[in-house]
Amino acid sequence: MDSKQFREAAISSIDDIVKYYDTIEERRVVSNVEPGYLRKILPEEAPQNGEAWADIQKDLEAKILPGITHWQSPNFLAWFPSSSSFPAMLGEMYSAAFTGAAFNWICSPVVTELETIVMDWLAKAFALPPCYLSTGPTLGGGVIHGTASEAIATVLVAARDKYLREATAHLAHDEDAREDAIAERRSKLVALGSAATHTATKKAAMIAGVRFRAVPVHAADGYRMTGAELKRVILELRARGLEPFYLTATLGTTDTCAIDDMEGIASVLSELAPPGPGEVWVHVDAAYAGAALICPEYQHLTKVFDRFHSYNTNLHKWLLVNFDCSAVWVRDRRHLTEALSVSLAILQNQHTDSGLVTDYRDWQIPFGRRFRSLKVWFVVRTYGVEGLRAHVRKHIKHAETFAALVKGRPDLFEIVTGPRFALTVFKLVKDGATLDEQNALTKTVYNAVVEDGRIFLSSTVVGGVFAIRHNPAAVLVEEHHVRKHFEILVEAAEKALSKA
Ligand code: PLP
Repeated sequence: MDSKQFREAAISSIDDIVKYYDTIEERRVVSNVEPGYLRKILPEEAPQNGEAWADIQKDLEAKILPGITHWQSPNFLAWFPSSSSFPAMLGEMYSAAFTGAAFNWICSPVVTELETIVMDWLAKAFALPPCYLSTGPTLGGGVIHGTASEAIATVLVAARDKYLREATAHLAHDEDAREDAIAERRSKLVALGSAATHTATKKAAMIAGVRFRAVPVHAADGYRMTGAELKRVILELRARGLEPFYLTATLGTTDTCAIDDMEGIASVLSELAPPGPGEVWVHVDAAYAGAALICPEYQHLTKVFDRFHSYNTNLHKWLLVNFDCSAVWVRDRRHLTEALSVSLAILQNQHTDSGLVTDYRDWQIPFGRRFRSLKVWFVVRTYGVEGLRAHVRKHIKHAETFAALVKGRPDLFEIVTGPRFALTVFKLVKDGATLDEQNALTKTVYNAVVEDGRIFLSSTVVGGVFAIRHNPAAVLVEEHHVRKHFEILVEAAEKALSKA
């Protein structure tokens, strides 16, 4: 494809994408292809000779789109959103045009410099404490990773190495003895999360070769981790000779959007593991709900973060930046670089040697990196902080509308949790039914709605209750859609109850 052909193909593709967005609502939101559908309609072998773009593009509608679940549809209400915007798409396009591995500052200085600037902009816009700024008092700073899972695995490794380094500092004069001591202590390390923490933390612990324990959460506490339960688990672990060194606290848990008791966690840790060697590294995972911190009415939540060590939010979930883009901040970047720096002869360059530049490869697991900050810069400039606030508030209002509709039909539904941020979790009700019967009824309605295909929701089980999650935070959702979602649910619920 030469540049003239690229121009024609790109114009035609953009026309196609605009049409896709303008008509997305007409499509069945969730794909209903059979597993293996694609192998039946694609050739067995790669083409020997190149094909014309027009022929390739034709196959998008016929072969690719049937296998797409339309996350950008206003009828997509499942999990958390994966937001999209035109400025972010343009950012992806330019980033692809300038593509490079960008592991060091000198690879493309702007890739590093723009990232540091937009991460400082966002830290201020989210009202994170100044310790998370690259210019802040504790040598903090932000970096963009692909996903929250990657962010959590990375900070957990930094936490593990910090803990072990500090615990064996007295052996610094004898490297062999220190290596042995580190190997022994490592087998005792425990990473903590709550029972509602995303599995990303358990996976990070598996990758880092440490144990994982879940702090129980209870319906009476709204499924959030409390300081009291954390204390109980830490003391139990210590009594067994184990060493808790890391904790994921969640701001907006995946199933119900609970906010862990951050103040309680901070005060328990200052009692049991005060700052210094032996402290517990606290990472706040705000993968979805962190977007709400753009609004001043949520910013009181960040006050306690200066007592924690790191924080992440996925801009690709609810803040108009296309996947992938997980923003991570640390209070002290040296813990990342001490755990993750490696030197290679081919990397030597005068800028790195000068110590004046950031080489973000030392803040992450991969070596090369994408120019993700460009799409963030485009989005923040196009919408402005006020535009981003309006975006988040609109969805929170939709959730309030939905929850009010649910409460208006106590004969059919009951709210389990919420609305929290833009998430409402609810179940079906039937007088005199046992928990198993209630669960079966909710499941029947859930399956019927998903099968029907007009809307797509996800489900969960909290405290033994099977429940439906409604999250109207896809970019294109308007109030009339929320009312339609509710009508579809009422229709399915009335039908199921009439048969029950
Ligand atoms: N943390 C929370 C609270 C989440 O809800 C999710 C996914 O929804 C994740 C982490 C994992 O996100 P990622 O896909 O970016 O790894």
